[in-house]
Amino acid sequence: MRYANALSEKDTQELDQLYANIKAKTATVLGYPVAMDFDYSELYRFLQFPVNNIGDPFIESTYGISTRAMEAEVLDFFARLYRAEQGGWWGYITNGGSEGNMYGLYLARELYPKAMVYYSESTHYSVQKNLHLLDMPSIAIRTKENGEIDYEDLHDTIRMNRNMPVIVFANIGTTMTEARDDIRKIKSIFKDLAIHHYYIHADAALTGGYCSYTDPCPAFDFEDGIDSLSVSGHKFIGSPIPCGIVLVKKSHRDRIANSVAYIGTVDTTITGSRNGITPLFLWYAIKRYGLEGFKLRTERCLQVAAYAVEAFNKIGLAAWRNEQAITVVFAEIPKALCLKWQLASDNGRTHIICMPGITEERIDLLVQDILLTASHSKEETFNLIIKQK
Ligand SMILES: *Cc1c(COP(=O)(O)O)cnc(C)c1O
Repeated sequence: MRYANALSEKDTQELDQLYANIKAKTATVLGYPVAMDFDYSELYRFLQFPVNNIGDPFIESTYGISTRAMEAEVLDFFARLYRAEQGGWWGYITNGGSEGNMYGLYLARELYPKAMVYYSESTHYSVQKNLHLLDMPSIAIRTKENGEIDYEDLHDTIRMNRNMPVIVFANIGTTMTEARDDIRKIKSIFKDLAIHHYYIHADAALTGGYCSYTDPCPAFDFEDGIDSLSVSGHKFIGSPIPCGIVLVKKSHRDRIANSVAYIGTVDTTITGSRNGITPLFLWYAIKRYGLEGFKLRTERCLQVAAYAVEAFNKIGLAAWRNEQAITVVFAEIPKALCLKWQLASDNGRTHIICMPGITEERIDLLVQDILLTASHSKEETFNLIIKQK
């Protein structure tokens, strides 16, 4: 590096401290959906280059340092997995599930500028911000106890606004309980109310990473009737850099394609520059796991989730999970424990997510901590847990 100095001793120390901190924190994650079993060291050499997949992944740009071919392969893998019509889909690798959700809503708005958006009250917090940015009117629908959309409330609410086109933002795995809205049931509501102008987006951020491999498999994909789908790459698949995949029906994307002379391609994505490294991670994961490997990884996570439900119930902490879900829900536990195990809480409930890389041993450590809190006062427990680290 010309003109650059070696790091000072202090700066080096700061880096080393950060490394140690991150490593330690990684060993006590239980509440956030990030896979921890990846090893992309074979790809580190690509970090030497200013890789950038700017513009449409399927149209060459005049900027040549890109991983477009790999990006297209990744998209093809997921288009097949989510049963998109051959030749009838389009997509790109995003910066995460939220961007893909925003993209789906953007296309929906271009298609139906006067539509009403319906989403359940268990929807991810980022969606309201996106609706605000896109200036789309929306109505929140009640959820059932397990976090799934209340179909009756959806039916009644759409009926009251039946003069407007309908956009449903469906959850395929809610953030808190991993509940899945049933696309076929939603479509039957449209049929019942004779709604012909509608658009369904599936937010499959976490669950989309694995639910195709489960039996039963939720009704969530293109064959079931969606128009677009977003899934996170750094959740179930695993990536050191946040990323995601958005897939849409090709006809929707064609409505917004504008050619841009400066980059020599079509500006069909939300951002300008796009990450060219994350498609490489996803490509590598697909090549190494294949369908069979992803399936085995899924089974392993479901096994750990079943183990966790049993382990919590055995010590008197009522725990449950949705069918074929890797998220285990239970009543909020003491704050010190939530801090240590990085558990998100909402409305008196909390959860752990049995992601790839989480083992029964980690569940056992949490169970031990819970038992410990049961036999001490709040104050004592806090000190105990914090000191233990
Ligand atoms: C994580 C999550 C998101 C956001 O995805 P990011 O990849 O973090 O942008 C959206 N919806 C649901 C249901 C999620 O679990």
